Amino acid sequence: MGDHFQTIVDLDALPDEAAEYAERGLEWLVSEGVVLAERTACVLGAPLGHPPGSNWLRACSPEDADREPSDGLAVSVGRTVFHGGQGEPEAVTCPRCKVTTRLVTDTWESDDEAWEPFGVALRAWDEDGEADVVCPACAASVPLPQYRWADDFFAFAHLGFEFWNWPHFTDEFLTRFARVLEGHHVVRVWGKI
Ligand SMILES: [Zn+2]
Repeated sequence: MGDHFQTIVDLDALPDEAAEYAERGLEWLVSEGVVLAERTACVLGAPLGHPPGSNWLRACSPEDADREPSDGLAVSVGRTVFHGGQGEPEAVTCPRCKVTTRLVTDTWESDDEAWEPFGVALRAWDEDGEADVVCPACAASVPLPQYRWADDFFAFAHLGFEFWNWPHFTDEFLTRFARVLEGHHVVRVWGKI
């Protein structure tokens, strides 16, 4: 078993905007009936969260109608390395040259050499909110948050909506949610602990 999370991460909200967009996103989720405005002890990693609302299925596929979530939503504001929990990041793609660099070996172990510059940047970003990585393919110096990760394993951002033990969200729901966030890019980081 274990607990599953799906975090909708807003990649575009700046540090001083994150709280405002958090409120905007939450208000919409409450108005849709996807979650409730009240807060209860229904999430992991935070004291309180928003429990599922009566229209929770609007976020998920009708096929999951019998999988009503028991847990809720924690909204996370502030610089965060959102990550997929267990396992290793498989690959990373440079936004400039679009070349994908594998970060695991053929036997699915971490490729330490390939990972190292990203690991260094990850720690720097976590501390200062700024870090560049020189792309191994095109040698451009690219800000860490602009890289794209296989399976959206990482997202470096200032706002995330973390849902616990919900069925998978539909693409349609994610598109609608992005629209509420004024067309910001969103990714879904998911995993289990
Ligand atoms: Zn590149």
